[in-house]
Amino acid sequence: MASQVIREWVGFQQFPSATQSKLIELIRKLKQESVSTVTILVMGKGGVGKSSTVNSILGERAVAVSAFQSETPRPVMVSRSWAEFTLNIIDTPGLVEGGYVNDQALDLIKRFLLNKTIDVLLYVDRLDTYRVDNLDRQIVKAITDSFGKEIWRRGLVVLTHAQVSPPDGLSYDEFTSRRSEALLKIVRLGARMKKQEIKAASIPLVCVENSGRCNKNELDEKILPNGTAWIPSILQTITEVVVSQSKGILIDQKLIEGPNPNTKGKLLIPLIATFQYFFVVKRIQTWIKNDISRENRPSWA
Ligand code: GDP
Ligand code: MG
Repeated sequence: MASQVIREWVGFQQFPSATQSKLIELIRKLKQESVSTVTILVMGKGGVGKSSTVNSILGERAVAVSAFQSETPRPVMVSRSWAEFTLNIIDTPGLVEGGYVNDQALDLIKRFLLNKTIDVLLYVDRLDTYRVDNLDRQIVKAITDSFGKEIWRRGLVVLTHAQVSPPDGLSYDEFTSRRSEALLKIVRLGARMKKQEIKAASIPLVCVENSGRCNKNELDEKILPNGTAWIPSILQTITEVVVSQSKGILIDQKLIEGPNPNTKGKLLIPLIATFQYFFVVKRIQTWIKNDISRENRPSWA
């Protein structure tokens, strides 16, 4: 991480002053807990608004956003510092290609993350998609298999395109909670959480609207249809996740490779060799010796 260029967080000054004061408060809270660096990993399908969310949080166009060719081809980490506080955000390529989890993209992400410490995982999807399917479950499973179940203790589900009119006469809050419940169910399944774990680790959910047409309040802050100023809100939830957990998750070789099914087998090799030596080789040698001693004249003679 040492080679990473840390720039000053210029986007900070671009936020409305109401947002700035809330963020200063959050940074103060983190510093009280001796947290001076927060590293956020952003993952999800392609085109759901990962890169846009990164830019919204930073208040600047730090990573490329594209409506069509949806991809950031490789992971990037953007680092910004403000008042001796450093925010790192890692944007990643989408995990899905042709209806499957793209293992190559996942491998690339894993290698990029090697020796980095992750404090928060943003799992991004759209609010305005009504179905969750097996693919969503596959993605969550791939993330779990790669970084361990523990990553979900630091997980935050982020729903983009949040400026929508709810269907079927639902209120906005009813709609967002139904959509999030469906998605969180998939996350729990994909992360193979047990009942007690679900109770212990309720994964927070935040809605965001990255569009420039997002409504604003009288303080010039971008708001959701329910009136929430969402940038301070997502950063507050991120802060809560960081503060509620101990040190972040270090992505090391062991974690990435996971428990190797071959290792067990390898441990048996010397045992099997010893067994073979004493019970097979030794026996055959004894048989041969006995044979030789029994024959007083070699058979060829
Ligand atoms: P990524 O592939 O997940 O990184 O998605 P991008 O951030 O590149 O966004 C894909 C497209 O969706 C772009 O055209 C964005 O402008 C658009 N987009 C992203 N987030 C939102 C959002 O919250 N609301 C709306 N209306 N459009 C969004
Ligand atoms: Mg992107």
